[in-house]
Amino acid sequence: MSCPRPGKPVTEPTVSPSSLGERASDTLRRVFGYSSFRGPQLEIIKRVCTGGGGLVLMPTGGGKSLCYQLPALLLEAGVLVISPLIALMQDQVSALRENGVPAAFLNSTLGEEQAFEVIRGWRQREIRILFVAPERLLTPSFGRLLKETPPGLFAIDEAHCVSQWGHDFRREYLELASVMDAHPGVPRLALTATADPETATEIRTRLGLLEEPVFSTGFDRPNIRYRIIRRDGGREQLWRFLQQEHPGDAGIVYALSRKKVEALADWLTGRGRPALPYHAGMPPAIRARHQERFLREEGLVMVATIAFGMGIDKPDVRFVAHLDLPRSVEAWYQETGRAGRDGLPANALLLYSAGDVMQHIQFIEEGEGDATFKARGRERLNALLGLCETTDCRRRRLLAHFGETLSENCGNCDSCLEPVQTFDGTVHAQKVLSCARRTGERFGAGHLIDVLLAVSGERTQRLGHETLGIWGQGQDLKRAQWQSIIRQMVATGLFVPSEHSGPFAAGLKVGPEGFDVLRGERPVTFRVETSSAALRRGATPRKANAPLSGDDGLRERLRRWRRETAGENGIPPYMVFNDRTLESLLDVLPRSLEDLLGVYGLGTRKLDRYGSALLAVINPGDGQAARSDATPGPETGSGPALAKLSSSASTSLDGIRRGHSLEEVARLRHLRPERVAGHLAEALQCGAATLEQVLDLAGRDPDQAFIVLEELGDTSPSVFKTAEERLDGLWSREELCILAAWQSSPRRESPGI
Ligand code: ADP
Ligand code: ZN
Repeated sequence: MSCPRPGKPVTEPTVSPSSLGERASDTLRRVFGYSSFRGPQLEIIKRVCTGGGGLVLMPTGGGKSLCYQLPALLLEAGVLVISPLIALMQDQVSALRENGVPAAFLNSTLGEEQAFEVIRGWRQREIRILFVAPERLLTPSFGRLLKETPPGLFAIDEAHCVSQWGHDFRREYLELASVMDAHPGVPRLALTATADPETATEIRTRLGLLEEPVFSTGFDRPNIRYRIIRRDGGREQLWRFLQQEHPGDAGIVYALSRKKVEALADWLTGRGRPALPYHAGMPPAIRARHQERFLREEGLVMVATIAFGMGIDKPDVRFVAHLDLPRSVEAWYQETGRAGRDGLPANALLLYSAGDVMQHIQFIEEGEGDATFKARGRERLNALLGLCETTDCRRRRLLAHFGETLSENCGNCDSCLEPVQTFDGTVHAQKVLSCARRTGERFGAGHLIDVLLAVSGERTQRLGHETLGIWGQGQDLKRAQWQSIIRQMVATGLFVPSEHSGPFAAGLKVGPEGFDVLRGERPVTFRVETSSAALRRGATPRKANAPLSGDDGLRERLRRWRRETAGENGIPPYMVFNDRTLESLLDVLPRSLEDLLGVYGLGTRKLDRYGSALLAVINPGDGQAARSDATPGPETGSGPALAKLSSSASTSLDGIRRGHSLEEVARLRHLRPERVAGHLAEALQCGAATLEQVLDLAGRDPDQAFIVLEELGDTSPSVFKTAEERLDGLWSREELCILAAWQSSPRRESPGI
């Protein structure tokens, strides 16, 4: 941190760097604890701080909020955020306050006095960022407040709510523009994660942003692993998934019906996995309590209908599993998007069956709406089924649906991880189609398979199906294989639901393309079905919540400390610090407050509050001396020398000083040994350590090594490999890198060896 320039009034703890970009970066580091901006964040921030507006399209977890949060600390006047989600407001405000940003919200949950206090704070410009629900914004009294104390920026969060196309259309959002029009000089920033081109245009039109730029990052969520698998004993599949890949993790399980949701939550809890139900039929108070518990406690499973999820800002949801087919690709994308907002690995699992597909088709056909509406519904379902049945990379297909191209396969979906095997199933398809034709196109899969396998029963006898030529013609395959084939035929439209309802509600009729197959004009390829086994094989090699690095004891200690601190402060644990910060702590293993500055997500405010406590948890033996024992003695380099060292290098050096070998430090820190060698070389060059301290000479004379290194001249990594060979392996290439650094260091002459 630099010192304030003399003669200038100090309004901020640090001096304002000259350019806006620098001020923004400085605030990012200081307040939020992040080292760099993501994607277009800086561009957006600069724009709104210089009076411009725009539309921001970023996926969930992409970092939209920062685009209006950070300007709140740079603009003269505060930022007004219009958000429809009350729960989200509370969360954001608490998280901002945790970072020391004066923030508040105004909505129906506040008492009169509290609201008055907030209004006073805004008037006095104490509150830098104020969240309001759209209803509030439209009241005359709020209009007067804004007239008196206008904001420096209008941020319209969840902006798709202005759109008729959006899922969550809000009438009040339509009137927002009129309120903002009263403040023509104040820029408007609209933000959303849900915007196909139609929605985007509508947002821009309604909010008067047609002249302003659109900032868009792709839709991809690379940390989410997608898997779509045949449902085969859904509960047990789910159980295995939870036990093997997500023990102790928080996640959401979506099911179609309220009944199923309740039964499943009971079943999981009964088996020892705490789960809560959530659906629109529950009393609002209980629903709210379950949501609250899910946000605040760790490791709960929420079993829910689609009613759950709007505005869930929990960053550490590690999985989203669907036990039934969702409505559309959009719905699935939005629901799975609630996983892994913190950017750490997360799983999206979808289990589905032919029955689901039939049910959806029937919903569409028997539902209300005209022909165009139904056609659109079918189209949507087909797009989803295309994704389910694809033999290619799921992510490519998913992104293509949103008009984006991925240049190569993602490597993080089931198709990529375990390439799909296919087989030519033309003859099999013909057999089932013909079986359906001969039996009157009104039976479901079960009966057709009975006929193909010659499974005699009351019905096959009564209807005379046992005398048909197709009777028993499918005995080369097992029942499960036929089920898989029929499901794929339904999904690809070779079969459509029969109009014969009644006792055979799920009857199958040959679809138009099915006739092409029957006529031999169209070959058919099927996926070789994968089910439970695939769930196991396709499993994340490392469970999604498994350590990325570090030792488990420390991880547990840090988590326990986080839980306790959260409890004391009445906030959810992730608000104290999230899992990403946890990983960063384990990576850096900070020994000083300075080291802590390099940890992801720790700004000055959190450092002040939690810094020493964290250091004590991480370095339990250090007591008060956490800082001082890192201070080198006269032989080991001076304080300033150490300060020149990058924090990562000083962590490596520290490991060596504590008696670990270079390889051990590399393993503990999950770094390549070359990196650690580079750190030690850095330490030698800036005089923070001596050769003996970083290298065990083990009776070897380094002179020969110096000669070889000199001969070879430069110090690129390939040189160390050559030197290692020339010296017949007496010194490893990492050691040679360190020797070379020493050789070229200014302190070479000092008593080192
Ligand atoms: P969105 O609103 O787009 O869903 P958020 O704003 O909640 O996403 O951001 C998701 C997570 O990423 C949050 O924990 C946020 O603090 C973090 N984040 C945002 N910007 C950055 C950044 N530049 N560097 C690191 N983390 C960031
Ligand atoms: Zn893929």
